[in-house]
Amino acid sequence: MRVLVVEDDAGIAVGLGANLRQQGWAVDCVDSVAQAWSALCAEPFDVVLLDLGLRDGDGGEVLRRLRQNTGSRLPAPATPVLIMTARDQVASRIAGLDMGADDYVTKPFDMAELAARMRALRRRAEGRAQPLLRHGPLAIDPAARSVTLDGVPVELSGREFGVLLALLEVSPRVLSRQQIEAKLYSWDSVLGSNAVEVHVHHLRKKLGENTIRTMRGVGYFMAIKDTP
Ligand code: CA
Repeated sequence: MRVLVVEDDAGIAVGLGANLRQQGWAVDCVDSVAQAWSALCAEPFDVVLLDLGLRDGDGGEVLRRLRQNTGSRLPAPATPVLIMTARDQVASRIAGLDMGADDYVTKPFDMAELAARMRALRRRAEGRAQPLLRHGPLAIDPAARSVTLDGVPVELSGREFGVLLALLEVSPRVLSRQQIEAKLYSWDSVLGSNAVEVHVHHLRKKLGENTIRTMRGVGYFMAIKDTP
């Protein structure tokens, strides 16, 4: 899952980035309205964390432009946005929510709470109420980052978990290798040309050869569930 952190306080941005990476997010940090807009035009993000007071202007401007975007594919106008404000900025929070923000936290915020709010935003974006994802004999808990197969825990690496989650969230749609890469890797990641293939290979070994199917020349998708 990929998150864009828009924050001009370097201390907060670094701490936030490190914490989110530890939780398995691919994180990109920018510190201005201009950079945030370029990033959103370049890549699909699963969540945006948006500071409102940025060095070149109001973070709300990013939100306004994002929600008003029509036509071109990127930036995706429905991208979930969580605003980060100071405790006394009640008016900005109200304005942000009315401008299309999905949620907010006040600084200083608790990382565990922020993480839970981000998971809730993802669920809502996918139209899913259940915190657990199920697919046939597979059960995936995005909060605990754990997977069971027929009730038995399966050890996955962070990237393997990321590939599985990405495919499950769009199932039964197909994701191309490039789309999976975009969800897994931030700009500064070093990426082998066959990284996704390797993760899929390992996932098939651990979860069953037919769990993830290949649509030749297009990408990967979750096999149709066996159970009703
Ligand atoms: Ca700021």
